[in-house]
Amino acid sequence: MAVVKSVCYVIKTFTINDADKVAVVLTEGGLKKSLIAKNGARLKSAVAGKLDPFNFIEAEWFEKEGQKLQPLNSAAIKKSYFKRISGDMGRFMAFSFYSELADLLVHGEEGSPKFYRLLTHTFDFLETHDDLQTATAYFMFWGLKLLGVFPDFETCAQCGTGLSDGQNCGFSTEKFYCSQCRPQLKPLPEGVPGRLRIMSKQPLSKLIPDPDSDLALLTICNNIFTAFTGRETKSFSLMKPFVFPAG
Ligand SMILES: [Zn+2]
Repeated sequence: MAVVKSVCYVIKTFTINDADKVAVVLTEGGLKKSLIAKNGARLKSAVAGKLDPFNFIEAEWFEKEGQKLQPLNSAAIKKSYFKRISGDMGRFMAFSFYSELADLLVHGEEGSPKFYRLLTHTFDFLETHDDLQTATAYFMFWGLKLLGVFPDFETCAQCGTGLSDGQNCGFSTEKFYCSQCRPQLKPLPEGVPGRLRIMSKQPLSKLIPDPDSDLALLTICNNIFTAFTGRETKSFSLMKPFVFPAG
């Protein structure tokens, strides 16, 4: 048994055995862990208010191999976004969506520190910006890209022609095609190929809002996600009307 200390993002929490609280967290090493706080669900618990979703905490726990729940030793808040959501449904929905993606995309023993950095980058951005549309498209695009499941968007999957204009580009079953190879596909909004190129090179804070391209991109990402994981996110359709009210 080893003592482990890490800054973590709290993805979700639930209560078991009436009073014990389980926090599913993403560590800065990009691993998903389930930490259990004995009596942590009681009001007077030392972890009350700390193990809440959307919090970044510094946690220490006893790690035992092969054990599902790791006993939490201590937790302290580093940064809390829990209060930021009060009265802000857009942020609440967006944060819930990011948490669900982290929960469903992160697996296994090999961590993805880059995924953790993507999460902190997105939250940092939303501390000083209100552009939930760009942030949400960026988070999902990069989340899939880091896992290696976002397809090549610069060339047609069939003939290899460069895809520079949405009008000549369509998307079907996880791949991008030119309009010559797949004339039956609905053309993408014109800005999508350019948006993808910019997103793959620029940090979030450098991006200029482009809601039409971002909504199209997010829909593509959601298709890829469903094909890859074999399941739908619960929060995608809930989040969409709040983050893209005009969509
Ligand atoms: Zn083609």
